[in-house]
Amino acid sequence: MAEDCLFCKIVRGDISAQKVYEDDDVLAFRDINPEAPTHVLLIPKRHLPRVTDATAEDAVLLGKMLLGANAVAEREGIAANGVRYVFNTNQDAGQIIFHAHMHILGGRPMGWPPG
Ligand code: 5GP
Ligand code: ZN
Repeated sequence: MAEDCLFCKIVRGDISAQKVYEDDDVLAFRDINPEAPTHVLLIPKRHLPRVTDATAEDAVLLGKMLLGANAVAEREGIAANGVRYVFNTNQDAGQIIFHAHMHILGGRPMGWPPG
């Protein structure tokens, strides 16, 4: 846990969030500023600044994140039509919150490449 990290505060319950999925290791909640009809953030409960900081010891955690995202996509009803999983990592990718998070986006057609 990092004292001043916004997403650690959500994990601790110090800041409220609209939770949509949770297990022992990961938590998913709605993005406060949604970019699509479904926009959920899925995070490891443990503070990990970037997904690129993961090591071999995090292999199970990373798998749980993907399985959790699949569960969110099913629950939100976006798995069949189309869902996008995104990790913005560091400056050029636009990472603002330095607690690794997967964006789960769906509910509308999306363009490629991203901006
Ligand atoms: P990043 O640019 O770091 O990949 O994305 C951070 C995301 O966190 C943004 O989409 C932003 O809307 C979301 N966000 C920022 N603060 C909060 C908050 O307090 N609660 C929730 N639910 N989402 C937040
Ligand atoms: Zn954190």
